Amino acid sequence: MLPLIVINELGMGDPFFCKYICPQGVLEGAIPLSAIDEGIRSALGNKFIQKLIILIIVVVLSVVFYRPFCKWICPLGAFYALMNKVSLLGIKVDEHKCVSCGKCARACKMDVDVIKTPNSTECIRCGKCITACPTDALSFHYGFGMPEKNLCNTVKENNKTDMKTNNKKDITTEE
Ligand code: SF4
Ligand code: SF4
Repeated sequence: MLPLIVINELGMGDPFFCKYICPQGVLEGAIPLSAIDEGIRSALGNKFIQKLIILIIVVVLSVVFYRPFCKWICPLGAFYALMNKVSLLGIKVDEHKCVSCGKCARACKMDVDVIKTPNSTECIRCGKCITACPTDALSFHYGFGMPEKNLCNTVKENNKTDMKTNNKKDITTEE
């Protein structure tokens, strides 16, 4: 909203978030370019330091929390989250099949209790809750209540492959 409200004499707003907060440019541009170019290195100023600090904080937080930047900092995520309430793609709970085991809530890395809030603003539609449900009580639905079976099956397969890969990594690490 800031670029719309705070504008210069030409009627243009600064990209405040990209300029002062987002560390992506530092990671993908400033660090590699300054590593190979003396001129760029000497031109780095306070803004670089400020964003480097943000980058380090995000990296450290990422070790402990799942997607901290997307969850707490990125304004695009907040904007997309609002769309969850009106999104054509949603998650449906079949109350007749649900046995209240809680496996879906435990599988969700975004801390969504999908039974209570199936279309929570925090949901990223990863489908991990659908894969975890032992009774197929959860499913993706598209549009006007139509079940999206192909998407459900694809997401389930992908999540199962991820889980197998992670398990293999765990076993290799233990060895
Ligand atoms: S789709 Fe993913 S983010 Fe959404 S409730 Fe299920 S596990 Fe959580
Ligand atoms: S995992 Fe399935 S059965 Fe268990 S609480 Fe969630 S929706 Fe219900």
